[in-house]
Amino acid sequence: MSDQGAAVCVTGASGYIGTHVVRVLLERGYRVRATVRDPSDEAKTAHLRALGDVDIHAGDLTVDGSFDDAVSGCRYVVHTASPVLTTAADPGRDIVQPAVDGTRNVLSAVVKAKTVKRVVQTSSIAAVYDYARPPAYVFSETDWNESAITDVLPYPKSKVLAERAAVAFRNALPAAEQFELTAINPTFVFGPVDAQIHLRTSPQLVSELLRGKLPAIPDFFFNLVDVRDVAEAHVRAMTHPSETLADRYICFAEELHMAEICRRLRAMFPGRPVPRWSIPTPLVYAYAVFDRRLTWSYLRRALGRRIQLDARRVRDALGVTFRPIDETLRDTGQSMVDRGFVV
Ligand code: NAP
Repeated sequence: MSDQGAAVCVTGASGYIGTHVVRVLLERGYRVRATVRDPSDEAKTAHLRALGDVDIHAGDLTVDGSFDDAVSGCRYVVHTASPVLTTAADPGRDIVQPAVDGTRNVLSAVVKAKTVKRVVQTSSIAAVYDYARPPAYVFSETDWNESAITDVLPYPKSKVLAERAAVAFRNALPAAEQFELTAINPTFVFGPVDAQIHLRTSPQLVSELLRGKLPAIPDFFFNLVDVRDVAEAHVRAMTHPSETLADRYICFAEELHMAEICRRLRAMFPGRPVPRWSIPTPLVYAYAVFDRRLTWSYLRRALGRRIQLDARRVRDALGVTFRPIDETLRDTGQSMVDRGFVV
């Protein structure tokens, strides 16, 4: 069956990664059904409409049946929607539950539609690496984060449970109703932003660095990947031959220490107040008191810790090539400057 003009439902389409997935799909000639929580919210849809002919539907992870209309008649579903939060008043209710129940909700729509061949789920490297492993351990797609617990690391827990819920849901279906399923597991994503709302997720770090919002540099390593390459991986995973489709694909380009990210941003954007000096680790804990995103339990695990990854599968099997991270850093910052997001 030709894919020309086939309909693809992208959940969470107004989000940072979702928007880039929509862009690639439109470029390849697919019809796109985009779900957003509130189609009347201009701040979340204007950038999506600007991409071209996008059919926007309402879709809320927490509302049963909410995705039925959007998925009806689609050949593929790319499920990116999930709460991207590290802390919340009630992490189980606000982060884990919407991710897991929402995944089942989307997959129920897939079963009802009877037209969907494959679902690509946006998972995360947070569902793969596990701080309980020794630092020399090299993580690959066979690994699962077994030690994340809701009260301490709710976001990783939500990604583990949502990915596993999708597999369990699909496997429990009668053979005739089963659809193909695969996951994309990106590391920390940088790359051009399309809307102010994209600064609430991973690109927020670059915007804060360019605006001088971080006083000094903590001892963090980042495994980075470009959002455009992550979007490409989603679309390749969507169309890859069934016989050799894998269950998950790690997307990772390059590791940089935060001091090196800052050094490169200073060179790329001279005059910007990007921090120069390192902050001693005890002071990071003190700073965390004022920054709700940085919990002590997270800092204890992550400060100074490097995560080794084997990301050959996405290159070898899907043929994705990752652009140099300098291009990613430059384009991230430049998109923010051009759109007036870092004044
Ligand atoms: P984002 O811009 O915040 O996108 C998340 C999307 O999920 C938004 O469109 C949001 O919709 C939607 N969403 C959240 N709660 C929802 C709910 N209850 N019902 C319906 N939609 C809901 O973040 P992102 O970085 O693009 O993340 C997209 C996916 O990539 C997520 O699954 C995330 O876990 C994964 N990921 C991200 C990174 C990264 O570094 N950015 C790395 C690995 C994996 P609204 O616009 O309505 O709020």
